Amino acid sequence: MNRKDALTEVFMSGLAAQPEAEPNFHQAVEGVARDVLTVEKNDADYAAARVLACLAEPDRVLSFRITWEDDTGQVQINRGWRVQTSNAIGPYKGGLRFHPSVDLDTLKFLGFEQCFKNALTGLPLGGAKGGADFDPRGRSEREIMRFCQAFMGALAPFVGPDQDVPAGDINVGAREIGWLFGAWRKHRQSFGGALTGKGLSFGGSEIRVEATGFGLIYFLSCMLHDRGETLEGKRVLISGKGNVATHAALKAMSLGAKVLTLSDTGGTLYAPDGLTPEAVNWVRIRKARGEDIAHPPASLGPRYKADALPWEIEADIALPCATQNEIGSAEAAQLVSSGVTIVAEGANMPLTHEAATTLQSKDVIIAPGKAANAGGVAVSGLEMSQNAMRQSWTPERVDAALRDIMTEIHRQVAHEGRVPGGIDYRRGANIAGFRRLAKAISAQGVV
Ligand code: GLU
Repeated sequence: MNRKDALTEVFMSGLAAQPEAEPNFHQAVEGVARDVLTVEKNDADYAAARVLACLAEPDRVLSFRITWEDDTGQVQINRGWRVQTSNAIGPYKGGLRFHPSVDLDTLKFLGFEQCFKNALTGLPLGGAKGGADFDPRGRSEREIMRFCQAFMGALAPFVGPDQDVPAGDINVGAREIGWLFGAWRKHRQSFGGALTGKGLSFGGSEIRVEATGFGLIYFLSCMLHDRGETLEGKRVLISGKGNVATHAALKAMSLGAKVLTLSDTGGTLYAPDGLTPEAVNWVRIRKARGEDIAHPPASLGPRYKADALPWEIEADIALPCATQNEIGSAEAAQLVSSGVTIVAEGANMPLTHEAATTLQSKDVIIAPGKAANAGGVAVSGLEMSQNAMRQSWTPERVDAALRDIMTEIHRQVAHEGRVPGGIDYRRGANIAGFRRLAKAISAQGVV
């Protein structure tokens, strides 16, 4: 066993969280530990402060009951959490996810990853994540509104512009943020930037909705530029049909790429000659109405392949934008056979450890979500600045700032991840994010 593996093994065995109970959290921490423990050991201040061990034990975990009434007058009970991982470099910051799969393990992993992602943006943003095991599918608008109000009723004392600033994530979009903000304002008797992703009429930022998808494509363009290539004519596979997937698709198309797929849990929407913006907008409308995408009108072009994943289609680039661990070993092998040479993560941790190993062994370049999908939280940071300054910036100004931030993230990651013959983006992102956190944590004493 080499020094790096030995250090990682000792570190992981010292974690309070057990691998069986918190597999996602373990996977995320181990992925980072492998790259940064040697950096920590080589700096006396970082080592003394035990930076990674601090980050692997959240500052605080809030766990609460959410009690609300459904449309038939029945009392419904859900469980909610907010994991406040670290506020060493800024107020706690990260999204809220409403999904039946949400549990403490998932939120701890997401909060941990968020710290590194937010550090990479260069903005003053700490790391957190929250959500509930609530399933909005099949629920009416009024039920979802009541749920959001009950959720914020429990969380409001812990949320505020300098304290903790939640945003959206899976199943929490602009509509839910509006309801959550209304409830926060009422509970706290205050108006301020306590959430991001707000509507434009009450402190939201231009480009926030598009930011994660656009940022992903700006990052991908930097990767290609580094290899002397562009997106023009590239065949791109995208999974997912949400905000990240659809805005990445639209931006990639506008830069000349052929986007062959989008997908949902039932199958893949496939257009051999590339989807059109009209087809992507149709997906957005169906998604907003809570409807499936299985029957696209013939006039739009694509067909829907039930039970199929995008990864079996021949292409150059894959952008997994659905959810964590969506690509395991089998899917990674498919990607290799499909000829894909770059995978950039729009979702958080969409590759299992085994999938990443398979892809790397075949020289497929992987851009980790903490770098490639940081555009969303970056524009959240810009929304916080606008709120603090009581300003609203133009779409052009925000888009230009987003592009600059993604370019700067790429520069830092490439600098830390440069290896003979290319760039190890995963390692580069882990080390660049870690250095910023480590400087802050080691400078602030034992707290
Ligand atoms: N949920 C998004 C993410 O994973 C955005 C978080 C935010 O804007 O606070 O980064």
